[in-house]
Amino acid sequence: MILTFPHMGRVYITLKGLFDDLGVKTVIPPPVSQKTLEIGTRISPETACLPLKINLGNYIESIAQGADTIVLTGTCGPCRFGYYGVMEQEILRDNGYNVDVVILESPTRGPKAFFQRIRKISGNQSWPAIGKSFLQAYGVLTQVDELLDLSLRKRPREKNSGETDRALTQFEKQVRSCCGSREILGLIHQYQDIFAGIEEKENGDPLKIGVVGEIYTLIEPYVNLNIGKKLGALGVEVYRGITITDWVRTHLYPDREYRKQRKEKMEKGKDYLGLCIGGHARETVASAVHYCDMGLDGVIQILPFGCMPEIVAESILPAISRDRDFPVMTLTVDEMTGEAGYMTRLEAFVDLLSQKKERKSEQDGIVSGT
Ligand code: SF4
Repeated sequence: MILTFPHMGRVYITLKGLFDDLGVKTVIPPPVSQKTLEIGTRISPETACLPLKINLGNYIESIAQGADTIVLTGTCGPCRFGYYGVMEQEILRDNGYNVDVVILESPTRGPKAFFQRIRKISGNQSWPAIGKSFLQAYGVLTQVDELLDLSLRKRPREKNSGETDRALTQFEKQVRSCCGSREILGLIHQYQDIFAGIEEKENGDPLKIGVVGEIYTLIEPYVNLNIGKKLGALGVEVYRGITITDWVRTHLYPDREYRKQRKEKMEKGKDYLGLCIGGHARETVASAVHYCDMGLDGVIQILPFGCMPEIVAESILPAISRDRDFPVMTLTVDEMTGEAGYMTRLEAFVDLLSQKKERKSEQDGIVSGT
């Protein structure tokens, strides 16, 4: 068995550590590229969601490198995600790819099938060994997200332009040659120190923007046109509305403290959207309110073209913006999105926020008589 999985941001780092520990061979899908998207688009229905097209491109690129088994997470919810897994399986079969597809549905939907499938992709290791490997993988997952958050904090403050990105690129190069979660964790800690040591500008008080939206679009830099890097280069500190660690803590890992905090955050959005309508629309709305309460300067929503839940959230965000005098912008991405137009909109939004911030500090100065 040679396993592969969808490429979703840096999730491959956790999965590589997990399967190395379990002694299961894997093919890490190549980073998402124009070629990946073209392959996926060619075999997908035209109206399919962008993440589905890219996932299919990932699988086919991995199959070309020897993968014979695909593992993907369970699919649930009222939007099209509810039938993604089966649909991807059918499309691959129709196009002559004879691979094993293991769909990990939520354990609450069928614990027996869930554990049988976990055992299968774990190379039939013993349950204690599987449990230990999954716990270590959780450690890698949270540390990778902490490293990424550190990079988002450092970018707008770095004294030497590009230092954070050079370190991040170097980390991603080295992590591919690590074997197992212990080695990966060692490398992450090494880079956490490197990031922490990046020299900062004096008097750095960057603009702060929350980026919210559909989870895949938020975590995969190719799809969001590397918004974290672009905003960082414009001097903005980015807060991510949802991460893979959040998803795992919400759906899989029993972290009570996190769930309590999440519930409080979700409550904040309930006057605008009190129902789960699929995807991460509720998170998008609640995060926008939460970021306003936190005193951030604005919010950017990113959604893949045709994403029903995010379209609903998009229609609600102007009300939040109006009620709270809080700037919000929506960016839609699809296979036709051009980088130049996207960049222009980001720059214009950042300019607007800078002017608003300057006006506010002038007014505050007048009020305090300084
Ligand atoms: S959340 Fe949006 S992009 Fe994701 S499957 Fe649902 S409709 Fe498609």
